Amino acid sequence: MNVLEVQNLSKSYDGKVEALRSCSFQLQKGSICAIVGESGSGKSTMLRLIAGLERPNSGTIRINGALMSGDDFIAAPQERKTGLVFQNYALFPHLTVRQNIQFGMSSSSSSEDQFEELMRLIKMEGFEKAYPSELSGGQQQRVAIARTLATHPDLLLLDEPFSNLDAALKTDLRQQIKSIVKQLDTTMLFITHDLVDALDIADEIIFLEE
Ligand code: ADP
Ligand code: MG
Repeated sequence: MNVLEVQNLSKSYDGKVEALRSCSFQLQKGSICAIVGESGSGKSTMLRLIAGLERPNSGTIRINGALMSGDDFIAAPQERKTGLVFQNYALFPHLTVRQNIQFGMSSSSSSEDQFEELMRLIKMEGFEKAYPSELSGGQQQRVAIARTLATHPDLLLLDEPFSNLDAALKTDLRQQIKSIVKQLDTTMLFITHDLVDALDIADEIIFLEE
């Protein structure tokens, strides 16, 4: 089944800057896909259009077969079952690891189990009471991913997830993220300017030109 279908998607800003021209692709459930392109090629624009933070000029976006963006229809971000992890992680600095991750969770009796499961997945057991400023870049990234996963997205979107990390950390984190995504059988789309990131963990790679 296709989790994501993008058809003839175009976006220009202020009627002048053409960021995307008639882009089409599909993404199957369970796959990891990378969008690779130079700076300014429209990678972040693509991610924002899929997340619903931006309105396309033309084209359609479907998630699990349901129309999210069309000619005269646009679904709000919270209706899309997408989870976006920002490039700078955007963790709440005044909240602990536990509070950050539980932010998006419902307060049901199963949420403690779910919290512990996420902490195990991101290998952060013992860091429940730590604040973001006390964590390394890789740890912050994993907490940001857990916070997003806590909302049960069908499609995980990551903006340059490895760009703020040094080379050794990057290699480890790529494999950790791949392992999390495959264990949960979720679907992940990430953007990167570095082909090595894509070649290392992606099942499919999309190139954006200009
Ligand atoms: P990338 O993420 O690949 O670096 P972006 O999607 O951020 O590319 O940008 C694609 C193009 O659109 C660039 O020329 C950029 O300057 C322009 N752009 C992006 N966001 C805006 C905006 N909010 N307003 C005007 N132009 C923008
Ligand atoms: Mg960008």
